[in-house]
Amino acid sequence: MSHRPIYLDNHATTPMDERVLEAMLPYFREHFGNPSSISHAYGWEAEAAVKQARQTLADAIHATPKEIVFTSGATEANNLAIKGVAEAYFSKGRHIITIQTEHPAVLDPCTYLQDLGFEVTFLPVQGDGLVNLTQLEKAIRSDTILVSVMAANNEIGVLQPLAEIGELCHQHQVLFHTDAAQGIGKIPVDVLDMNIDLMSFTAHKLYGPKGIGALYVRRRNPKVKLASQIQGGGQERGLRSGTLYTPQIVALPKRWNSD
Ligand SMILES: *Cc1c(COP(=O)(O)O)cnc(C)c1O
Repeated sequence: MSHRPIYLDNHATTPMDERVLEAMLPYFREHFGNPSSISHAYGWEAEAAVKQARQTLADAIHATPKEIVFTSGATEANNLAIKGVAEAYFSKGRHIITIQTEHPAVLDPCTYLQDLGFEVTFLPVQGDGLVNLTQLEKAIRSDTILVSVMAANNEIGVLQPLAEIGELCHQHQVLFHTDAAQGIGKIPVDVLDMNIDLMSFTAHKLYGPKGIGALYVRRRNPKVKLASQIQGGGQERGLRSGTLYTPQIVALPKRWNSD
């Protein structure tokens, strides 16, 4: 008989909530249609489920459904946000600001862009793990296009001051991206109040399945331009091609529902 140790690594992933699994199952079985199949009922029922999930997710963060792009998780959402902005705005500027304590899913796309000729400022954090706002403001230049600072740190859990960072970025007309993989569903996040332009999240840190996440992309004041990183069938308004993964999408916002 082997005794499994008690699981204490929820920052790495969480177990699936039974209710989330139950909600997913019909979309593997009877409702297996492709949400993009617009000519028959199998497509329509899958599409309705995706639409409902998108609405729930948008409502939870004070966004609109068209501002949600489903991805395979926070890693892909971060890559889409950072490389997508870099590619879409490079004629405006090639400077990006982030912090040294970001997850590799932010640091590595930034390093990749550095190798391509972008300039990246990796700000240190203070002793308490927080970014220094004065230092952040000083780092903003006329050619800065993006600031990327996470919501909650994946190792020590410290919460960055999103609203203050958002305000600063808004004043300087620089886009603000936050990797909220560890924050969403645990702390209130309002993309309008906090002036967040792009936000990444993932289901498996929130009692959902692995392999599904989303990127919030602001469409008004300002409308964020983004270059797609995966091209193909044109799903997600061309920003992320690939057949939508209905069961995973249904699962993503499940923990925000009244349950
Ligand atoms: C887990 C995590 C990621 C990666 O998310 P995936 O959905 O596994 O790609 C990115 N950023 C942070 C802060 C995380 O905790």
